[in-house]
Amino acid sequence: MVERLRAGGVSCEPVLQAFLAIERHRFIDTALATQAYEDTSLPIGLQQTISKPSVVAHMLALLFDSDYARGAGELGRVLEIGTGCGYQTALLARLGRQVISIERLKPLHDKARDNLGNPRAGDVRLVFGDGRLGHSPRAPYQSIISAAGGDDLPASWLDQLAEGGRLIAPSVDPVRGGQALLVVDRTAQGLTRRWLDAVRFVPLKSGTQ
Ligand code: SAH
Repeated sequence: MVERLRAGGVSCEPVLQAFLAIERHRFIDTALATQAYEDTSLPIGLQQTISKPSVVAHMLALLFDSDYARGAGELGRVLEIGTGCGYQTALLARLGRQVISIERLKPLHDKARDNLGNPRAGDVRLVFGDGRLGHSPRAPYQSIISAAGGDDLPASWLDQLAEGGRLIAPSVDPVRGGQALLVVDRTAQGLTRRWLDAVRFVPLKSGTQ
């Protein structure tokens, strides 16, 4: 899988090393384990999916290219919205100093807790709640990444983004229409936004269940 990511243009070495270290098959149903290292999204229950490895790698490499991460060589304090099965959380734990990951579906929050094991590698806090609100007690974050996309970008995420930090989230591109990856940087001058490739992520919903 890692060689395929490399061949596909992912050149960020820390991200590739994280993919080598974390076994994707441990995060999905045993019935799907044979597909764990294919470049495909897979169901994780409750109509949610674990994202395609190439998309996750691309997003993590983009996070690693923020002003902060280029200087520090790591992602700093990370806010992840949409823990799902916890796979991306495990990757982030190797790339940042601390990861706060929020999930709104209790069964998935619990599943991620099991998958990530105890004691967990890295400093990871799993939060059961509505990620649209972010997590203000530990803000600001140098890196914010969402695995679910809505029509709008919650204002709380921008409020909680540190200077030099970067946010990556699927969001509706107002020019092309449809969902695309949105990259927001906070600089001393303010916020800059760029929409990149078209993507298809599960919807960002409000409230908890
Ligand atoms: N990175 C995850 C992908 C999970 S799919 C993984 O590796 O498995 C996206 C997840 O976002 C789903 O679990 C969904 O329940 C969750 N989600 C959607 N809206 C949310 C919200 N407002 N707050 C927190 N999680 C949310």
